[in-house]
Parts: sequence; structure tokens; C-alpha cells
Amino acid sequence: MGRKKINEIKALHDILPREPLLLMGAGPVPITTAVARANSIVINHIGETMGVVIDGLRALAQYVFQTSSEKIIGVSGPSSAAMEMAITNLLQPGRSVLVLENGTFSHRWAIMAGRTGADVTTITAKGIMPISVRQVEDAFSIKHYDAVIVTHGETSSGILTFNLQTIAAHAKKHGALVIVDAVTTLGAMDFDMDKWRLDAVIAGGQKALGSIPGISLVAFSETAWKYIHNRTTTTPQWCLDAKLAWRFWGFHEYHYTAPVPGVLSLYEALYEIRQEGLQQRWARHTVSSQAMQKGIEAMGLKLFVPKPYRLPSVLSIALPYGADGYKLRQFMVEAFGVEIAGAFGHNIVRIGQMGEQCRAHNLFKTVYALGMAFDHIGLKVNVPAAMAALEKGLAANKANLLVR
Ligand SMILES: *Cc1c(COP(=O)(O)O)cnc(C)c1O
Repeated sequence: MGRKKINEIKALHDILPREPLLLMGAGPVPITTAVARANSIVINHIGETMGVVIDGLRALAQYVFQTSSEKIIGVSGPSSAAMEMAITNLLQPGRSVLVLENGTFSHRWAIMAGRTGADVTTITAKGIMPISVRQVEDAFSIKHYDAVIVTHGETSSGILTFNLQTIAAHAKKHGALVIVDAVTTLGAMDFDMDKWRLDAVIAGGQKALGSIPGISLVAFSETAWKYIHNRTTTTPQWCLDAKLAWRFWGFHEYHYTAPVPGVLSLYEALYEIRQEGLQQRWARHTVSSQAMQKGIEAMGLKLFVPKPYRLPSVLSIALPYGADGYKLRQFMVEAFGVEIAGAFGHNIVRIGQMGEQCRAHNLFKTVYALGMAFDHIGLKVNVPAAMAALEKGLAANKANLLVR
């Protein structure tokens, strides 16, 4: 693409769609009006009011992560920055780490871990599946690892590490720290940091927490914090130094200027989770995802990942032979204002089931748009059967309505 002449540059409102698109992809997800409002406010980043917000945010996060650890730190940056904060503080040259790799995001962890100078070993899955407990056991029988990195939901393909608890227990038995990427799972499904004995858990704003992109969270266990507290070397990155960041997140002192609207948005999103209640929220996501899966199958399509380890919060749909995923998604946008996600390498499209995506009105719109788009690209699918299956799946539980 050539450089644009300055007088060809359009006003922002002429670039953006006239009506905002319904974001039904793998994130970012639609935000509520309350979160959007919070995102429009700027206050002093180290004033007293901010102090109240930060303390409240950490308490809300403790509830959502299900942890009694106070060491919860916000990161001014994408989930990838939170991943880096977790590992640059817990890894360094001389440390060894085992990375469970089965897709784009777990692969990213391996790359980042390598950059810390730690000794990195990866184990990969044999196909579209999570890494088995047996593979982890085998790895530990050869060598000791200081840490294990597990991606709970591998968003790129829609795989759930359903055996996370067992893997974590095994790693703990060997004295390893357990670092978990919960970006697409925390807030959308059963997750218990303390019960599962996890040492560092990362979450991003724009996925299962239902907030905006660009601000994320890391929760460290007491064990992880002890390592960070005692290490004598500094992290190469000043911004991602957890001890420095704790000055702001623990004591409201200046580290760098926090992304104030992002912090407020995250507060609001976590507060909404608290108001709904975790159990209720998980139930809403389960009902929604199952109804969506039934709808997709009734249409005549196949889900890409086998049921036992299918990630409920990001559903991958296998594209039938000859289907052009790009044209399909384009028609959904143009005709219905619904956007779903493409893929990293696989012949799939992906539908998100996180936060406000799990609402009846959004689900019906999405399934209908998907069906009509298949029709548009010349593939016959059963739209009425899909709508009926979705309706049946949602009828039993009113959790997905805005007002119950
Ligand atoms: C989206 C995602 C990330 C990266 O998030 P960014 O905000 O794009 O950095 C990491 N891990 C998982 C599992 C994700 O789904």
C-alpha cells in the first residue's frame, strides 16, 4: 500500500461503520454501556479517588481469580504484556521452564520464555488436542523444571486444557511454579486459582472479562511473589518489573501513568461480574455456548474440536470443502453487521462466547447471519433447524436475557 496523500485522509466517523458491528469473534468482545462510560473518564492517576478504585479493583479481581493472594497487578498493555510480566519476573537465565504448546498463543509463550534467557523445553500436542498429563509426567521424569506454562484456552483453534488441574498438581508435586494463560477462560467458566494451586494467572481485558483491549491483569501466588521478592537480579524491562508495578498497585505510588480509562473500565467489568455472581455468570456462558453448538450442528456444520476438550468460550467451526471463510465473514458483516473471527492456519471460522456475546439477542442474530452467509456463498445449510436448536437450547434457562 502506498502512502496516502494528506487530503485523502478521512474523518474517523467516515472510516468506522455507520452502525457499530456486533463483535462475535475471539475478542475484543462487545462492552456494556457501563464499561463504555467508564472508558470515557479521566481522573488523576495517583489521587485519592484512584486509590479507592485500585483497592476495589484488586478485591474484585481476587473474587474473579478466586484467590486470597493480594498480589494482583494491572498491566498497561495487551494480554501479551501481562504474559511478559509473568515470565520476566519468574524466569531468568539459569531457570528452566516447560511450555505446553498446542497453538498460536501457547507458542507465543515459548517465544517469550526464550527471550528471558531461561532454558525452554516445549512439548506439543499430537493433533487438535491438549497436551496429556502423561506427556508432562514424562518430561519431569527426564529433568527438573522451575516452572510450567499452560494455556488454559488455546484461542487460535478452540482447545480447552481440560486437564489443567491435574497438570498443575503434577507440576506442584515437583516444586515447579504453574503459570497459566486464562485470557479466554477466566470469567467465562469454572476457574479457581487457589484451589488449583496456580502461581501466576494472566487475564486480558478484551476477552472473557468483558472489558476493553490494552489493559490486562496478572495474579501472583504468595509462592511466586516470594521468588520475585527474593531475586537479586532486576528484570530487563522497567515497565514490567512486578516489584516496581506493585508500588502503584499496592501503595498507590507513581510507577508510570496508568491508563486511567482502562483501569476504570476494568473496574466496571469486574464489578459487573461481581454483581452477576460467578456461578450465575458461568452458567450463562455454559447455556449460551451449548445452545450455540447445537445450533451450529443443526445447521449441518461440524465443530472443529472434539467435545471433551472443546473450549466453550471460543467455538471453532470447520469450513466445509470449498467454503471461502473470508467471503462468508464479509457477508455477515455487510448484510447483518455481525463480525466473527477467521483463523490462524486452520480451515475454520471462530465464534466467541464471552461476556455480552452470551446474550440471547446476539446469539440469534449471529446464527441467522452465519446461515444466510453460507447460503450466500452457495453452500446449502439448514437455517430453520439451526434457529430451532438454538431456541431450544436457550429456552430452558433464562440466564441469557438482559432482564430475567
Ligand atoms: C488473545 C489472547 C492472547 C493475547 O492477547 P493480546 O491482548 O492480543 O495480547 C493471549 N492468550 C490467549 C489465550 C488469547 O486468547
